[in-house]
Amino acid sequence: MKRVLLKLSGEALAGPKKTGFDEATVLAVAKQIKAISDEGVQIGIVIGGGNFWRGRTSETIDRSKADQIGMLATIMNCIYVSDLCRYTGMQTEIYTPFACGAFTKLYSKDSVEESFAQGKLVFFAGGTGHPYFSTDTATVLRAVEIEAEAILLAKAVDGIYDSDPKVNPNAVKYDEISIQEVVDKKLAAMDLTASIMCLEQKMPMLVFALDEENSIINTVHGKFTGTKVTV
Ligand code: UDP
Repeated sequence: MKRVLLKLSGEALAGPKKTGFDEATVLAVAKQIKAISDEGVQIGIVIGGGNFWRGRTSETIDRSKADQIGMLATIMNCIYVSDLCRYTGMQTEIYTPFACGAFTKLYSKDSVEESFAQGKLVFFAGGTGHPYFSTDTATVLRAVEIEAEAILLAKAVDGIYDSDPKVNPNAVKYDEISIQEVVDKKLAAMDLTASIMCLEQKMPMLVFALDEENSIINTVHGKFTGTKVTV
């Protein structure tokens, strides 16, 4: 693989604590990212915000404002992960779709290409910049824009199931499934808006568990045990 878009959920940064940051967990992820980056793979990263806040967390405040807080949470997450990646020896750049002072750079495809050419790891923070979207949608949007070969979707579960494995002990995991079937069956790999964009833009996806040892490296190396979503 030459260029991929890695999506980490916000919760993945929290480790056993379920909220905030767990440094050991994130450092282990950063070391995997460094290993594949050293092999010359260009990596874009989108991180969720669920370890701090989701727009749907509050039923009281205005949804647009709640989503703004969610988007800001994704920026905090990217600053944190970016800096731990720097600690491992990588160069990084964080882009946001709206101005964020000196904290991040304003997203443009040209600037991102420059960062990749400089060997940098690129973070896409702040989601799409719009409420009522998710970081899943931002993931597909950026993956399509940067012409990534595939989305690497690191999740708490080890792939896509025909029903929720946390609720149904007899849920069956797919080794491979088409994105059309994911959309038709409304399977919970990504939210529907993001899945439909994957379908329309023919963006393949590899879904796997982040907490399995070396799962990011293994996925890039083709030693893959999750669910392959074909287009
Ligand atoms: N969000 C948004 N627009 C976007 C991306 C994210 O409004 O384009 C907000 C939304 O409130 C969402 C929150 O940011 O709930 C955190 O993102 P997400 O729920 O996707 O995080 P995850 O569940 O993957 O940790």
